[in-house]
Amino acid sequence: MDAQDFETWSQRAASWGVTYRETLEARPVRARTKPGEIYRAIPPNPPETGCEMAQIFDEFEALIEPGMTHWQHPRFFAYFPSNAAPVSVVAEYLVTAMAAQCMLWQTSPAATELETRMMEWLRDALGLPETFSGVIQDSASSATLAAVLMMRERALNWQGNRAGLSHAPRLRIYCSDQVHSSIDRAIWIAGIGQENLVKLAADPKSGALPPEALEAAIRADLAAGYQPAGVIGCVGATSTGACDDIGSLVAVAHAHDLLVHVDAAWAGSAMICPEFRALWDGVEGADSVVFNPHKWLGASFDCSAHFIRDPEMLVRTLAIQPEYLKTHGQDGIVNYSEWSIPLGRRFRALKLWFLLRFHGLEGLRAMIRDHVRWAGVLHDRLAATPGVEIVTAPVLSLFSFRRAGASEEDTIAHLSAINEDGRIYLTQTRVGSGLAIRFQAGSFAMSASDIDIAYSAILDGLGLGQEGAS
Ligand SMILES: *Cc1c(COP(=O)(O)O)cnc(C)c1O
Repeated sequence: MDAQDFETWSQRAASWGVTYRETLEARPVRARTKPGEIYRAIPPNPPETGCEMAQIFDEFEALIEPGMTHWQHPRFFAYFPSNAAPVSVVAEYLVTAMAAQCMLWQTSPAATELETRMMEWLRDALGLPETFSGVIQDSASSATLAAVLMMRERALNWQGNRAGLSHAPRLRIYCSDQVHSSIDRAIWIAGIGQENLVKLAADPKSGALPPEALEAAIRADLAAGYQPAGVIGCVGATSTGACDDIGSLVAVAHAHDLLVHVDAAWAGSAMICPEFRALWDGVEGADSVVFNPHKWLGASFDCSAHFIRDPEMLVRTLAIQPEYLKTHGQDGIVNYSEWSIPLGRRFRALKLWFLLRFHGLEGLRAMIRDHVRWAGVLHDRLAATPGVEIVTAPVLSLFSFRRAGASEEDTIAHLSAINEDGRIYLTQTRVGSGLAIRFQAGSFAMSASDIDIAYSAILDGLGLGQEGAS
């Protein structure tokens, strides 16, 4: 591609993106594609000869775009958001154009130094103490895996990587039954084994892991000759937003010399607002904390902020340092690839810099406060609607509900009616022994009027449309 074409198509792509965002509202949120439809439309063999960009672009619009679920839609209320604020998209154009590998300081000093500074900004924005250092990981899953490996190596006196686990004591890690599946997978991959992830029942009322249960489990394991290695707390769990009492987990864990990792992948963004910080009281005592600016905050995927109290521990766990990767003659420089599992690293700090400077913390706080308030408005309206049962109360902007008296099959049918309609997109979750429909507000593009649309789409889907209109 020559420079002229590169410019033409770059500009075309950028203006396509602008139109896409502007017209999102008119589209069904979830793709209406049938399984296999797009796969079958793509030829089975790669082309031997190149073709015109115009044709590729046309086919992108005709074939790919209709098969997308619109995560930037103002009424994307499913899962958790994956916001890409326009300013962050602009930063990503630049990152993509430079396409640098940012594994070492010398492979792009600006990327490393901006990352250090951005993680300090975020740490301060969240009210975390200065004793935390940060690194940008690709995902919360990776951050949790890194934290679990750190727990493992520390518990094995730094011998696990070298000697393997065959003759190691049986390590144990503790958490509540509300944690995300990425915790389970980190335990598998770290070689600790699902059976050694001790999932303790969260208190059904508070959603928190009872500290007495944690204490009892650790003591029982010690008596059985096992080796406790760490505790994982959650703040804003995926299903219904459950939060552990981090302070009490830290107290129990540290009394047994165990590390604590806190998964606040979604809820962490809200901690830029001081009034929400009670949800993770005691977090300053944790050893590792992860949250995803690529969820609620608006930094486009991927961008996971990982704070560590003692990065030496992490580097001791993950650094390899073969000769060809050593950076000679520079003291005090950071090579972030030693803080994470993949070697190659994208330049992820630039979009944070653009995002935080363009919106300012006040702008981002206002967005999050709006979402929490609007979710509360919808919750109150649904709670006051006969025939609707609130299943779990709002945690920040997340709550769950169903039609009162609905069986599981009914609830699934209601949810698909809501999603087929296309005005909004919701997902389900299991709460205790039943199914509930989950709502979270978090789209960067959302406004107050989207709550009215959500309310009527929900009533229609639940088969309560008439009563709701009265
Ligand atoms: C989204 C989420 C994760 C996983 O995040 P990735 O960045 O996709 O790995 C983990 N924990 C919680 C609580 C989440 O909400």
